[in-house]
Amino acid sequence: MRNNLYGMFFPKSIVVIGATSDMKKHGGAMLARAIEFGYKGKIYLVNPKQNTIFNLKCYKTVLDLPETPDAAFVVIPAVVVLKTVEECGQKGIKNIIMISAGFKEVGGEGIEREKKLLEIIKKYGINLVGPNCPGFVSPFADLHFMMSVANVQKGGVVILSQSGGITAAMVDFAKDLGIGCRLICGIGNKADVNEVDIMETMIDNEAFLEGIKVIVLYQESIVDAGRLLKVAMRFAEKDIPILSLKSGRGDFGRKAALSHTGAMASSDAAVDALFKKARIVRVEGINELLTLAASFEKIPIPSGNRIAIVTNSGGPAVVAADYFEKYGLTLAQLSDVTKEKLRLILDKFSAWCAVDNPVDIIGGGSGQMFQEVVELLFNAEDNDIVLVTMPRPSFEGVLQDIAHSLAITRRVNSDKPMFVVTMTDVDHDLRERYSRAGLPIFLYPEEAVKIIGKMCEYGGRRKNVFKIFNPGKCLGIHKEEAEKVIQRYKNKFLSQEDARKVLEAYGFKFPRTVLAQGKDEIEQYMHFCQYLADFKSDCIYKVVLKIESPDILHKSDAKCVKEMILFPEAPGPNVYNEIIANAKKYKSDAEIKGVLIQEFIGGGKEVLIGVKKEKEFGHLISFARGGIYTEAERDIAFALTPLSFEDADELTKSIRFYEILKGVRGEKPVDFDELRHALLRISQLVSDFPQIVELDINPVKAFADKIICVDARIKVE
Ligand code: ADP
Ligand code: MG
Repeated sequence: MRNNLYGMFFPKSIVVIGATSDMKKHGGAMLARAIEFGYKGKIYLVNPKQNTIFNLKCYKTVLDLPETPDAAFVVIPAVVVLKTVEECGQKGIKNIIMISAGFKEVGGEGIEREKKLLEIIKKYGINLVGPNCPGFVSPFADLHFMMSVANVQKGGVVILSQSGGITAAMVDFAKDLGIGCRLICGIGNKADVNEVDIMETMIDNEAFLEGIKVIVLYQESIVDAGRLLKVAMRFAEKDIPILSLKSGRGDFGRKAALSHTGAMASSDAAVDALFKKARIVRVEGINELLTLAASFEKIPIPSGNRIAIVTNSGGPAVVAADYFEKYGLTLAQLSDVTKEKLRLILDKFSAWCAVDNPVDIIGGGSGQMFQEVVELLFNAEDNDIVLVTMPRPSFEGVLQDIAHSLAITRRVNSDKPMFVVTMTDVDHDLRERYSRAGLPIFLYPEEAVKIIGKMCEYGGRRKNVFKIFNPGKCLGIHKEEAEKVIQRYKNKFLSQEDARKVLEAYGFKFPRTVLAQGKDEIEQYMHFCQYLADFKSDCIYKVVLKIESPDILHKSDAKCVKEMILFPEAPGPNVYNEIIANAKKYKSDAEIKGVLIQEFIGGGKEVLIGVKKEKEFGHLISFARGGIYTEAERDIAFALTPLSFEDADELTKSIRFYEILKGVRGEKPVDFDELRHALLRISQLVSDFPQIVELDINPVKAFADKIICVDARIKVE
């Protein structure tokens, strides 16, 4: 944890270094704002060229100040920053927010300057936010030192953002959406203090944590993935959601990867996997980020996904319900008791109302009708969420009437989540009324349903949180056996034979396989016949021949995988020779170690189990539809190690192919228990041997009662 960081955001006194009366400069505009928004602590100013600004005294340097302020805002040109920061250190200042730009982000000498800056702050134990950041707003400290002008309400949202422009924009959006904030901070270059440091300070400091409902992150890079995971888990335990817009999804690095998993896993997949494990909700864009934040701030986290709809027109309800499946939601089945009570309410008003879900109280529905119906649904146990949709009623004043009723209903019954879709742009006063009552409103049904889906997903992951650091236990593992093999390799792929030995030591089953090799062709042929004779005596009728070469990783691509029938006639050397010839055609100088002869495994469903080591994140385990079309299909799911049993279970269920693995048209399901254990054993393998950088078992043939691997690749660093 960072010492003193709390003081950065709740300072009793601040100094603005680079303060000026020129309102066209940041040092002037931001200072003016801090004063205007009513910061109650002491404000000191430093500017060697002015005596007073806004009637406040100016000091020549920080060294001249009569006391040591809790935080320093630095708004001076980059070239004079280092000297000033040195002086801050001498003065004993522990927190600096550096608005000044001209560091790493400009390259060249900026990189050097940032390095020197870091040396100075390390020397004095200073916390530095920025450089190149837009400042922060700390509403509970009445401190607004930020490039943006809009007023920020006090509330439960924390926004930490890596982009100055987006931070400033979020201040405006927050106001429009009625979001109240505990802190909005631009973290700029993250040279020193990053979002993880701030979150750690929050969770360890009761005064800071108090009232925080949701944390909103805009991230361009993930630093300290391990610490992020840990601190996120602590927020998850407290049911304080963390939402992240992580930008930069493209990843060009993966093209270089040689394994299937490597080719399909981007570091973005690692981000997804990390967020999943950490219960961080990933969002697609700024709008979704803030709308979801507003909802989490104001609406309780759903405890289930059954939705009851109340509407004054069928259309919007049907549109909403059409999106339920996509977001994992269901239309609640109202109980007979609920329906009976509904009938009693609705009969008072009209004979045409629909007493089912959606509850359609038709066009003339008044505020009182909405109120009575919503209250009834709030009290019923057959639904978890109430969704109200209401196209503009045809009578004057009804919109206001409904808003009033819903606001009161919400206030009185605060446990169950309620969402309101207005289907029309409501005016400022109405919006305020809803917002005050804790009801963010949505214009379109699909928008609301998406947000409900995300909130439910978060709620649903609650049960996983406590299990996640509990890696599954695997029996029957012979680590020493694997060690003997792996230690012989450095920075390359293991041979297929050795990859098999490693995996067999971890409990994986392979078909009988032998390597035919020799110095010349006659000798090779003799070996070959010998092996086939072995297979024949076991009454195996078919084998698969594959090239063994460190230069040919994808053997089918080189036409070096061939099936061969052993009965009724003894096969000649043709297939064998063909494989060698194809290998040479594929790569003339390929080193050929021989030909693997492997028992043919008929039937089964082909899946892939893989691993890719991602720097910062650790090992990413993948589960996918396997076989030679795996990359074309990209039906793949990822999870970070160590896997818990629940993670393994979720992996197997997360791909489209799961529907087929479950069995169709009377087929039995594949052996999911074995698949889960296989994933856990791989998780164990890479934690025992962190030097494994890529691993592919493709395919694993899955049957109803077993799984068998027929091809495996392992690369170590
Ligand atoms: P590569 O992935 O290098 O092309 P594989 O050994 O995975 O080579 O073989 C390609 C395909 O051949 C597999 O996806 C699988 O469908 C099939 N295959 C390979 N070995 C066997 C086997 N022993 N039994 C049945 N089918 C096999
Ligand atoms: Mg393969």
